[in-house]
Amino acid sequence: MHDIWNPWHGCRKCSEGCENCYMYFLDRMRDQDGSRIYRTKGGFRYPLQKDRQGRYKVKSGEMIRVCMTSDFFLEEADAWRDEAWSVMRERKDVKFMCPIIIRSHAGSAQAA
Ligand code: SF4
Repeated sequence: MHDIWNPWHGCRKCSEGCENCYMYFLDRMRDQDGSRIYRTKGGFRYPLQKDRQGRYKVKSGEMIRVCMTSDFFLEEADAWRDEAWSVMRERKDVKFMCPIIIRSHAGSAQAA
């Protein structure tokens, strides 16, 4: 099974590819502003959540898509990223898949 983990939400457009951003579209449909970047309340530690029997809700071996409504390396998320890495370290039995976004303007995180 595939799952989604959004530790933060909202993003800053950085290229032509962002023109038709699906997250911005969905936020607009909900009367929200996709450029408002915030840490998700209930979802931040989602991979560590357990059911009533004390078992992880996200099962061992599952794949989780990370940051599907933002950019994991977004500068505005710098303060939250270490904690997100520690969540992933705690769940080494889960596969975390994160899209890499290349930001070309100065001051933004870059990944290759
Ligand atoms: S979520 Fe992706 S497509 Fe949307 S603005 Fe951010 S980088 Fe661009």
